[in-house]
Amino acid sequence: MKRIYLSLGSNVGDRRGHIRRALELLPAAGVGVRKVSSFYKTEPVDFAPQRWFVNCVVEAETDLLPLQLLKALQTVERQLGRRPAVAKGPRPIDIDILLYENVVVRSAALTIPHERLAERRFVLVPLGELAGRMRHPVTQQTVLEMLHDTPDTSQVIRLKSE
Ligand code: AMP
Repeated sequence: MKRIYLSLGSNVGDRRGHIRRALELLPAAGVGVRKVSSFYKTEPVDFAPQRWFVNCVVEAETDLLPLQLLKALQTVERQLGRRPAVAKGPRPIDIDILLYENVVVRSAALTIPHERLAERRFVLVPLGELAGRMRHPVTQQTVLEMLHDTPDTSQVIRLKSE
């Protein structure tokens, strides 16, 4: 079993409901969820004129290899009704692989650790809640150090209950 961290986000319809549904679908896709962060309301960063997102991060275990994991997560995204649409635009669910053990992948289809991990407060804040002292396998910075250093100033607001 490999330990992985995933980012889940939604900004369409019942945002929290979409995330909860994705969490329910992950085990059948081969991903055993171990910990779920709080849910956060987050300001869109890549493509501003759209609704705020709800985001969370999960710690999970899997026997899938990185590319198999990507395909499995894309299947869950489709099960939640995601259709190819505007890149970075509104979507019922977006699931990204943040970290996969200490593995580094650099291919056309997949970059692990996630390329923009250190540039996104909406990922670093929930990840810090689960694993603040964990180190990025390339830069060796901890999650809390990345959060301290990130130039991103977008708002990330913890929701009271899930
Ligand atoms: P998006 O539309 O923002 O979800 O981007 C999805 C695309 O990003 C997919 O086609 C993947 O091939 C690619 N990708 C690259 N690295 C990752 C990653 N770490 N997690 C998820 N998708 C990734």
